[in-house]
Amino acid sequence: MKAEHYVGGVFRSDGPAFPLIAPADGTELGSVPEAPREVVDDAVAAAREALRGAWGATAAEERAAALRRIADGIEARFGEFVDAEVADTGKPRELAATVDIPRAVGNFRAYADLLYGRPERAYTTQIPGWSTGTGQALNYTVRRPLGVVAIISPWNLPLLLLTWKVAPALAAGNAVVVKPSEETPSTATLLARVVDEAGLPAGAFNLVHGHGTDAAGAFLTGHPGVDAIAFTGESATGAAIMRNAADHVTPVSFELGGKNPALVFADADLDAAVDGTVRSSFTHSGQICLCTERVYVERPIFDEFVARLGAKARALDGYGPMISAGHRDKVLGYYRLAREEGATVVAGGGAPSFGDERDGGFYAEPTVLTGLPETARTVREEIFGPVCHVAPFDTEDEALRLANDSPYGLASTVWTRDLSRAHRVAPRIETGIVWVNCWNLRDLRTPFGGVKASGIGREGGEYSLDFFSEPVNVCIQI
Ligand code: NAD
Repeated sequence: MKAEHYVGGVFRSDGPAFPLIAPADGTELGSVPEAPREVVDDAVAAAREALRGAWGATAAEERAAALRRIADGIEARFGEFVDAEVADTGKPRELAATVDIPRAVGNFRAYADLLYGRPERAYTTQIPGWSTGTGQALNYTVRRPLGVVAIISPWNLPLLLLTWKVAPALAAGNAVVVKPSEETPSTATLLARVVDEAGLPAGAFNLVHGHGTDAAGAFLTGHPGVDAIAFTGESATGAAIMRNAADHVTPVSFELGGKNPALVFADADLDAAVDGTVRSSFTHSGQICLCTERVYVERPIFDEFVARLGAKARALDGYGPMISAGHRDKVLGYYRLAREEGATVVAGGGAPSFGDERDGGFYAEPTVLTGLPETARTVREEIFGPVCHVAPFDTEDEALRLANDSPYGLASTVWTRDLSRAHRVAPRIETGIVWVNCWNLRDLRTPFGGVKASGIGREGGEYSLDFFSEPVNVCIQI
């Protein structure tokens, strides 16, 4: 796979190339061009030009039709997209074929539908009324696109997370410049091909490849021609982008890291809670921002829960690798740190040995830990690997205190059969998303995002359209 930039409707590959490594076996998959500043400048200029020209003049109906053509185009190349996502990430094919690529299609369809479903909120609201002092007035509010939007995405769900921003940004009438993760450039390149085939006006969608710090990501987010930044990635990167964007007071929407808690009460359906925690901690080898890394279990069922979770973790097979050698080393470093901090390793705790080509890849074992104090770095810091720490609690208040004692606040899960408890506890957990007796059950219209160091703003349904457009009030004296 040869990754290419797509700027102003033209594919190009300027800049020095760097190798793309398959995390599944460590082999070289292809090469990626590292966009120099001039390519980013060209992309921002092309986006501005598109807004001044054909794309800026496009009616909502035409934009919805364009989004549908993109969705159809991804579906038409479904196998290619799945292959590319599996090659870049090493994730199980089933995950890419049932989650990543279908959700990318769904992201475009959802925003095409929304343009029709609620046009009054997305575009025009009329409030007949009056202003004091100067007599009668009619106020109405129109929503205008922000302009050129920079979209920076991570490697864990490459196409899904990128399109989760591209679709609403285009729906609201913006032109976008997208920089996917340097680890996973392939499905973004395929998306550019689909956009090209879908006949969007040149410059509406631009793609540049490269790294973040002192590279394409920083050139883009510090660019004076960028009107807004939508970013998903680590909290520390979000802070760096904010500093970079501060000079131009560029608005940001941030989906950042997490250290997500699960609260398992003694009245929970234990089978569901154990199976749910296996999913929430180990899906995609823990490399989903929503994955559980802290599990708090009410003391009467603690021992049984730990034994069952540990047995299931040990029995997991067919799991994918960490994204890179560097990330594998980071995760294994936390496994070592956990032991130094005094953890009991219930399951995993090292690197697996398969005896086949996977031994050239970057794997870490699904790992269950217990026995650490809440002050341990292993319990406080986001690891982003297949690992959770399980600790007991005695009261509902204690469970809440433990869950909330974190710099992060993205997602949480609550396992209980007591409806009153669920309603009592859920709003008191300091996370943007609370799942009760489930995990990662998504309705794309609901607000998605984190509190504290986990993010700024919400994505999803009209929340995204709100971010990607500016309400402008028009007041007419009558
Ligand atoms: P990352 O922050 O290292 O990189 C994300 C993107 O930012 C990449 O495209 C990278 O090139 C770019 N980047 C890095 N430094 C930059 C800079 N200084 N300026 C501009 N761009 C820069 O994150 P990652 O390792 O790719 O992804 C994992 C992280 O993402 C985890 O922390 C995870 O929790 C988080 N995440 C959050 C969500 C969410 O919805 N909240 C979803 C997925 C992942």
